[in-house]
Amino acid sequence: MHNRKISLVIPCYNEEKNIPLFYKECMKAYSNSKYQFELIFVNDGSKDNTIKELKKLIKEKTFAIKIINFSRNFGKEAGMYAGLKNTTGDYVAIIDADLQQKPELILPMIETLEENEEYDCVCYYQEKRIEGNVISSFKKTFYKVIEKLSEIEFVNGASDFRLFRRYVVDAILSLPEKNRFSKGIFSWIGFNTCYLPYIPEERANGKSNFSFKGLIKYALSGILSFSVAPLRLATYSGLLFSLLSFIYLIIVIIQKLIFTIDVPGYATLIACILLIGGLILFGLGIIGEYIARIYMEVKDRPIYIAKEILSNKGATKDEKK
Ligand code: UDP
Ligand code: MG
Repeated sequence: MHNRKISLVIPCYNEEKNIPLFYKECMKAYSNSKYQFELIFVNDGSKDNTIKELKKLIKEKTFAIKIINFSRNFGKEAGMYAGLKNTTGDYVAIIDADLQQKPELILPMIETLEENEEYDCVCYYQEKRIEGNVISSFKKTFYKVIEKLSEIEFVNGASDFRLFRRYVVDAILSLPEKNRFSKGIFSWIGFNTCYLPYIPEERANGKSNFSFKGLIKYALSGILSFSVAPLRLATYSGLLFSLLSFIYLIIVIIQKLIFTIDVPGYATLIACILLIGGLILFGLGIIGEYIARIYMEVKDRPIYIAKEILSNKGATKDEKK
């Protein structure tokens, strides 16, 4: 079928230098395409002139353009959600603004969906990570752990660089959680995903917004969002230690009654108390993490607040609620 509409969701945080380049790449890649394109930029509370650069694009006529301007920085997850909510295309892609993911690579994704009806979604994955050894082995371990704990499939190296059919986007948006971990959501909703290999480019300008500490926080939030296994840790270690102490009790009684050996005292006692105290606090901490999440969800605050939504001619104005 011809004249399908493709929506691109582009989360932007401090990307003033990359926006014009990104747009140029889109012109190069899509202006002769048989498809109609819609670009949805989300300005995620940038501290630089990203919004100014974006507003310049409103005058352009080649593509339908929409800009969602957040009231502050809400994070990439919120940006992706806001973008997806505003799409009207038959196919919807998520792509970074920093040109690490080349806009022209959307075309092979579209072809894949056009030619293979059995696929609902296309995802690029990194065969070889361009990051350093520490980060890439950390990420690999994370995928193994979370896969074990959550019982959903996480493909190592799979990026957020994806193209969905409309009904997949609707499924993503139907998950109401506020604390969003998209990698988990994409996998949890199911559907048939085609994985294509790609090699990310170097960042065109600026630097990555995800530090090592940020990645650890992100990884933990993923595990907490998609698994309740840590909660069971307390149960299992409680059981184990009850069993051990019972065995030890019997040993002590036998020693006392039969061999009349005095009960060994202080050191064992202190060690046991500290160990058990530590375990209890650890268990409480895990429960606390889940309660904090329940608390944030129950508050039911919006995922993002948009200061303004701008669009050029050709874009549909209203936002679906
Ligand atoms: N981004 C965002 N909000 C944030 C952090 C990042 O919208 O709080 C955007 C950023 O502008 C970029 C994309 O998310 O388009 C990926 O971010 P980045 O390049 O920093 O991450 P990396 O590629 O290093 O994983
Ligand atoms: Mg990047």
